[in-house]
Amino acid sequence: MSQPTFDKAQFQAALTRQWQHFGLHAAAEMTQHQWWQAVSGALAELLAAQPLAKPEKKQRHVNYISMEFLIGRLTGNNLLNMGWYQLVSDTLADYNIVLSDLLEQETDPALGNGGLGRLAACFLDSMATVGQSATGYGLNYQYGLFRQSFVDGQQHEAPDDWLRGSYPWFRHNSALDVQVGIGGKVVTVEGKPHWEPAFVMQGEAWDLPVIGYRNGVSQPLRLWQAKHAHPFDLGKFNDGDFLRAEKQGIDAEKLTKVLYPNDNHLAGKKLRLMQQYFQCACSVADILRRHHQAGRKLAQLPDFEVIQLNDTHPTIAIPELLRVLIDEHQLSWDDAWAITSRTFAYTNHTLMPEALECWDERLVRTLLPRHMQLIKEINARFKKLVEATWPGDGAVWAKLAVVHDNQVRMANLCVVSGFAVNGVAALHSELVVKDLFPEYHQLWPNKFHNVTNGITPRRWIKQCNPALAALLDKTLKKEWANDLDVLEGIEKYADDAKFRKAYREIKQQNKVRLAEFVKQRTGIEINPNALFDIQIKRLHEYKRQHLNLLHILALYKEIRENPKADRVPRVFLFGAKAAPGYYLAKNIIFAINKVAEVINADPAIGDKLKVVFLPDYCVSAAEVMIPAADVSEQISTAGKEASGTGNMKLALNGALTVGTLDGANVEIAEKVGAENIFIFGHTVEQVKALKAAGYEPQKWRKKDKLLDAVMKELEQGKYSNGDKHAFDQMLHSLGKQGGDPYLVMADFHAYVEAQKQVDELYRDQEAWTRAAILNTARCGMFSSDRSIRDYQARIWQAKR
Ligand SMILES: *Cc1c(COP(=O)(O)O)cnc(C)c1O
Repeated sequence: MSQPTFDKAQFQAALTRQWQHFGLHAAAEMTQHQWWQAVSGALAELLAAQPLAKPEKKQRHVNYISMEFLIGRLTGNNLLNMGWYQLVSDTLADYNIVLSDLLEQETDPALGNGGLGRLAACFLDSMATVGQSATGYGLNYQYGLFRQSFVDGQQHEAPDDWLRGSYPWFRHNSALDVQVGIGGKVVTVEGKPHWEPAFVMQGEAWDLPVIGYRNGVSQPLRLWQAKHAHPFDLGKFNDGDFLRAEKQGIDAEKLTKVLYPNDNHLAGKKLRLMQQYFQCACSVADILRRHHQAGRKLAQLPDFEVIQLNDTHPTIAIPELLRVLIDEHQLSWDDAWAITSRTFAYTNHTLMPEALECWDERLVRTLLPRHMQLIKEINARFKKLVEATWPGDGAVWAKLAVVHDNQVRMANLCVVSGFAVNGVAALHSELVVKDLFPEYHQLWPNKFHNVTNGITPRRWIKQCNPALAALLDKTLKKEWANDLDVLEGIEKYADDAKFRKAYREIKQQNKVRLAEFVKQRTGIEINPNALFDIQIKRLHEYKRQHLNLLHILALYKEIRENPKADRVPRVFLFGAKAAPGYYLAKNIIFAINKVAEVINADPAIGDKLKVVFLPDYCVSAAEVMIPAADVSEQISTAGKEASGTGNMKLALNGALTVGTLDGANVEIAEKVGAENIFIFGHTVEQVKALKAAGYEPQKWRKKDKLLDAVMKELEQGKYSNGDKHAFDQMLHSLGKQGGDPYLVMADFHAYVEAQKQVDELYRDQEAWTRAAILNTARCGMFSSDRSIRDYQARIWQAKR
């Protein structure tokens, strides 16, 4: 396979068609945004005309179903993967258009919340690149994740209209439309159950191309969009009663209006379950359509298709496939089950109880009465196995049941019905088996796997850090972007002073670029010669942005008390959105903003300390922040972060991690070596022991004078104009009432000590750069290409 060839004349002709389509007479009449639109549209057209590389015949096709795909801007990434960036840039220069400026015109398609959705996007990129035949299935939300701004330090949310209606990369084929029923009842027809839905809606397939890295592969990310099914009711229409018919129907178009903004938290809303079912019904129908079209038998489905569930959000696809096989194709239970249970594989993303999906049985029955019957049948059959294995043990059944206490437990349904279950980092997969599913593991030890997450080096090195990419090209003299272990080759240059200088200068340029970005977005001036300490991720109590804040307060206090001391100047940068209904998280944002105001305005502090909370963290902000980071904050309570992928992006771009032994930090530490990372805090085992012994946060606070002092400052309103209640939610959570569930008090001292070591190493710029280079050199395994090959070997293409 080879990269598609660029034909300048064809491109120019396609470009001309674009502006003619706008009703213009010449390219010169286009606005900058129209230029972006026209260039993207022309590229999409040329791509569609390219011969597609054929997937390997013998492998199972992967159907990756995810409620979220946080893809970020596509035009620049597609150009890079096609290998056309320079050619298009040169062509546009003829029109006096600067390609890199044009790319800034694209609104991020933010169809995801955070790590889970970004992982799905990286995996699609990697599947196309390693030649794994795949389709991504998701929803075409009209509004992506909300836009964040700050008003007096508080988060404000605005809708994110990303203009899907005129997004130039979409391709729509109405031949792929699917009808989806919802509600109604189950009746018996000829002795068999038959579902009569109350309403029918239509699913439209909107495809985005996923382009492999210079290999000619393009395969779809298929996003379903809900529409009214027309004609709604011709009889009523003719009676002039159509308005009433319309009103009785559910508002189908509402279904794909907005992405739920919760990360790691179930809201349990009816509309969300409808979204889940709509997506799954459309995707299952599409998979079966392709299977039939290829002339294959239903019984062969698992030989040709695998359905990978990204967390439990698409679990309802399992009873949906059973329903179609049994009710529409008249298969027996045993035959349908044999197919279904060999088709689905499930990725677990969290152990936290509030994020494990449970749906009210009544709600499921109201929306999906036939599916509820099938879930109960799965449950009843599984019960026999449990009773045979643990005779008379009601407690085990209460734990393993798929339906219990009028709740449908989606994770249990996945484990019982799928052929594989995987965690997303070595530590997390171990905890999945040991803490979450020990009995299931006893039943089916071979079902459980680990696949450590990864990130695509195309977007997260080559695109976001072109200067580093050029240095790697020049030094390694071979392709590394689709073979990231090649980065090991720069390890020996860590001892080369000339290379270190070049590497350091790149980091410096990236910091200057970020400083400009910060100035433009916030008006705050930061010194690019300071250490850039960055924490970017969703705002969540377990991620402990407030631990970072307490350390900032400790530094501030020390500088005030000891103003003459020689210090490493630091800029703390945050980027994080809080779910709109997550009040504690919002209070932490407010606290960081208020502390930042005071510190940044203190003339005695100057450049020694600055705190910036950049609003509206998203993929394109990440692309500017990550290459500029000196320090990567990965400070979740041990055992709580399943993997993390931000940690990988930052380490590969030469930031040193300050982190706990959590998620993939453990594997990063193993790879880079203890001297090149700052590990601190309680381990998973120590966290468990502390909690078992009865953790009392106030005792930890009392024995640490510094901690007590900074907590008092917050309590006494030093950062909130004397308002002693401004940070109540955060302070309650950290105190006796809240019980400090994530052990901020217990990890504070170790964190402060680790940060002192950071300063010490940073003073020796040669030693620091050496450690940074070793982070880049040794993190090749965190390419999502490696993750995909692990999925292939362990799950998708494993011998069965
Ligand atoms: C990578 C990424 C994440 C995930 O970050 P973690 O630190 O792993 O939680 C979230 N949001 C965006 C925009 C990202 O690019």
